[in-house]
Amino acid sequence: MPEASDQTSQGIPGVAAQASLPTILIVEDDAGIARMIQVLLEARGFATAVARNGKEAFLRLASEPVDLILLDVMMPGMDGYEVCRRIKADARWKSIPVVMLTAKDAVRDVVQGLEVGAEEYIRKPFNTDELVARIRTLLRIRAESQALVSQNRQLQALQALAQVVGRSLKPGEIARGAVEQTVASLSLEGGLLHLLDGQGNLVLEAQAGRLPLDDPMPLRLPPGPSWAWQALESGKTLELPDAARADGLGARSIIPPQPLMAMPLLLHGRRFGLLTGVGRAGQRIEEEERGILEAMGRQTAIALENAKLYAETNRRAQQFEALYEVGRTMASTLNLGDILGRISEAVSSLLTARAMSLMLLNPDGQSLSTVAGYDQFDAALEQAEARTQAQGRSPSLTAVREKRAVVVEDLDDDAASGSRFAAARAEGYRMFLAIPLLVQDRPVGCLNLYLTERHELEQEELLLLSTLASQAAIAVENARLFEETRQLAITDPLTGLANHRQFYDQLAREFRRCQRYGRPLTLLMLDIDKFKQFNDTFGHLAGDQALRETAEVLRQNARSVDILARYGGEEFAIILPETEDVRALVQAERVRVAVAGHSFSGLEGGAAKGVTVSIGLAALNPTMKRIEELVQAADAALYRAKSGGRNRIEVADRDTAPPMPV
Ligand code: GH3
Ligand code: MG
Ligand code: MG
Repeated sequence: MPEASDQTSQGIPGVAAQASLPTILIVEDDAGIARMIQVLLEARGFATAVARNGKEAFLRLASEPVDLILLDVMMPGMDGYEVCRRIKADARWKSIPVVMLTAKDAVRDVVQGLEVGAEEYIRKPFNTDELVARIRTLLRIRAESQALVSQNRQLQALQALAQVVGRSLKPGEIARGAVEQTVASLSLEGGLLHLLDGQGNLVLEAQAGRLPLDDPMPLRLPPGPSWAWQALESGKTLELPDAARADGLGARSIIPPQPLMAMPLLLHGRRFGLLTGVGRAGQRIEEEERGILEAMGRQTAIALENAKLYAETNRRAQQFEALYEVGRTMASTLNLGDILGRISEAVSSLLTARAMSLMLLNPDGQSLSTVAGYDQFDAALEQAEARTQAQGRSPSLTAVREKRAVVVEDLDDDAASGSRFAAARAEGYRMFLAIPLLVQDRPVGCLNLYLTERHELEQEELLLLSTLASQAAIAVENARLFEETRQLAITDPLTGLANHRQFYDQLAREFRRCQRYGRPLTLLMLDIDKFKQFNDTFGHLAGDQALRETAEVLRQNARSVDILARYGGEEFAIILPETEDVRALVQAERVRVAVAGHSFSGLEGGAAKGVTVSIGLAALNPTMKRIEELVQAADAALYRAKSGGRNRIEVADRDTAPPMPV
């Protein structure tokens, strides 16, 4: 019988087959009683093991798990009290319930048994049903308290994790906190956290503890045969008894081996990363540890998702803010410069653009001119823009022609548009963007952005940039229309020169400026001689043509600072800022000769020569208080030129300027 009981206690086939049954260790020196209890318990569905004394009992406890101990008090050598005391003093076993089997009935013995930590006592001879009932109760209590302990551990781990990841909304910090807390909560050797990037690689986001790696962990794991992809693709926690056998990890082989767990991070069924833990040498990963790892993985996934949502919300808010500001500026001003300045601010707040330029399509529809630069846009970049256009390799021109954004991802790699970006590269730019400005699908120009950092443009960002670009396009178009209208209002339609009103506005401005700073200013009044006769000879249309050509002759003989106007009918005026009368006389003479020498073409009956002008010249003098005084002086001189024979110049006498009518 002792033989049989020994066989059962070590009997691999029986125990292995009943591994899920609760195991009762019977510690009893009387082989007959031990065998009897064994048969009885096995008949009630328990697995059993027998130890004949305290020493055997400890050996058995150390080798395989036991769920409950039936302990005889009276044994040779170490008695039951001593065995119980030692069991309860050992952290590995103290939670195993102990039932003392005692033949004695004395209260003192019962008390002593409970004092050394036994959970129960049963008096021999015992009633079978009572014994089984007590065993079942104790086992149930143990299972419940184990579940509580395990839940408590899991809760503590999760609470610690929540505190760590709750401190940050940055994915990198959350990942680091999560992996550190996982290693701490499960007393692991080390851990890794990988996240999937946009290209479908697993990127190492955080690492904690000491990993037994021969080489540093690669930062990027492309899809392939590795523990990480195996776990990610299965969608389930991967467990390996030996981390050294994990493909692609490169862990050193250690005895006893270090176990590995890898849990895919999932949210709403989407896999987006992997939490890997490597245990200490010989560490056993139980159901409970796996449960904790999985709970931590789920919580980490939620924290990372929250961080992502937060970042997205933030970015959206920023984008709306930028659009709102642009809209507000457009509503409050018609000034193109203000609007484009605001748009450039909006763009640089969204991207790392440090230089920007605005190009407008020239009237030829084939080329672009840089009209404004923002931030650190400088002469070198402007020259480069002009040069590449001349070479026909301008990405801006492509953007305008093809009506789509052109992105040069990496200026270093971009040999095709080399010379343009040499200047940009030299100034530290890494990326270039050309966004066409479209007004009702018609390109009017292009917004160029120079970025200091490479940046993967998301669809949403491109959309926003296009929206800003169309705002810019509308602003440009509005400004153009506004300028056109303004020009119409101040320009004489026949000759394209300033009209009467604009002449007075300009003269008033120059008059004030020159008076204030004591600068010279001269006014010429011109009148075509005998123009009535010209009309009568060649017709009114020819007269109009002659007026246009006269204006052209005046333009050709003017400096850029001179202001030319059609004063009325066949009278013109020329304002000569910063010009003394002597110098003005030279210029007036040049004009007179040029008109007289011009042959008016395209006239019925052949070209006409001999159209002449008379000119009155008046210089500003310090006593003049009103512009009318200057105009009248010039008029008076013109009158004298007419009466003096025409095709000549008269200079207003400084001292005999006519008195002002009050
Ligand atoms: P004077 O040498 O004294 O200036 O003689 P004039 O004939 O040029 O002077 P007058 O003031 O008598 O006549 C001006 C003429 O200029 C009369 C008018 O028909 C003509 N004229 C004025 N405006 C226009 C215009 O817009 N088109 C044409 N074709 N003729 C114009
Ligand atoms: Mg006249
Ligand atoms: Mg005339």
